[in-house]
Amino acid sequence: MHLPRAAGAATLRVSVTDRCNLRCAYCMPEVGVPLLPRNEIPPLSELAGAVRWLVERFAVDRVKVTGGEPLVRGGLPAFVSAVAAIPGVREVSMTTNGTRLAASARELAGAGLGRVNVSLDTLDPVRFRELTRGGRVEEVLEGIDAALAAGLTPLKLNSVLRRSSFRDDVPALLSLASEKGVEVRFIELMQTGTEAAWAIAERVTGAVVRDWLVSEGARVTPLPDRPNAPARRMSIERGGQATATGWIDPVSHAFCDDCDRLRLDARGRLRRCLMDDHAFPLVDLLRRGEADVAAAASIYVGGKRPPDEMTIGSAMASIGG
Ligand code: SAM
Ligand code: SF4
Repeated sequence: MHLPRAAGAATLRVSVTDRCNLRCAYCMPEVGVPLLPRNEIPPLSELAGAVRWLVERFAVDRVKVTGGEPLVRGGLPAFVSAVAAIPGVREVSMTTNGTRLAASARELAGAGLGRVNVSLDTLDPVRFRELTRGGRVEEVLEGIDAALAAGLTPLKLNSVLRRSSFRDDVPALLSLASEKGVEVRFIELMQTGTEAAWAIAERVTGAVVRDWLVSEGARVTPLPDRPNAPARRMSIERGGQATATGWIDPVSHAFCDDCDRLRLDARGRLRRCLMDDHAFPLVDLLRRGEADVAAAASIYVGGKRPPDEMTIGSAMASIGG
């Protein structure tokens, strides 16, 4: 396992909100989403201060803004520009559902955002609306075009694989990705605290999907990758089109030994692993001016270990997926 200092460079994912304008079946319940009280969500200026503190101590050099849906939080461009200005930060990126990207891509690029990952599981408008409980796939497609036009590249699509529809969705997403010249990353569905029975029925491994693509005449060849990357990159050639893909198999192919990630959740608590329920109340301790925060944080981060099982007790939106 690469602990942040030892690795020399780490990635920090910052959840700027637990709120979202969609209700994806694998992430949130349709109604009764347990939202954090507003007074427990720190101002973005405090989160930016915590990011700076972590960059200075844990050799963080890449920061990913996430949520919830980061674009539902007001003041995001100022946050991005504060984080991008921290000495040592080489890249600020964002994971978004893309529905509000068309309106903000240019401003965010101007503020210092380098690139985006856009979550898109299906191009079928009906399936998209059902899966997200009300979303419009057209908005995401407009968001992708706006992000590309604003230079938020390399843009990656994030697609969660589902057993019931991968035979339709994966080929359509591969075609879109090669048409737009972007990479698509296929993610194995993880069982979170919400909709467990649905997740069990819908889970399919990346290996099953790749085998199916090969059985349909596709050629799958490994691509070079950077160390510690959670995705295994492969080129998929089908019908004369080659698409760069990444496969994130957190369940069947644990990448924990190479993980260099830290997270700040929407409450400003440091998290060493998505699957680890123990959190370190960083923003709170910094606010109270506690002594020895650095030593305590080092001990906490030093306890980063691969989890016993890949099951998350709470929805990813509150921790920062
Ligand atoms: N709202 C933004 C979005 O959807 O991109 C950012 C936050 S979302 C929690 C981050 C990523 O986590 C998305 O790509 C989403 O598909 C993924 N995700 C959420 N729940 C998941 C689950 N149960 N299994 C696999 N991926 C999941
Ligand atoms: Fe919202 Fe992203 Fe969760 Fe979907 S995956 S409900 S877009 S936070």
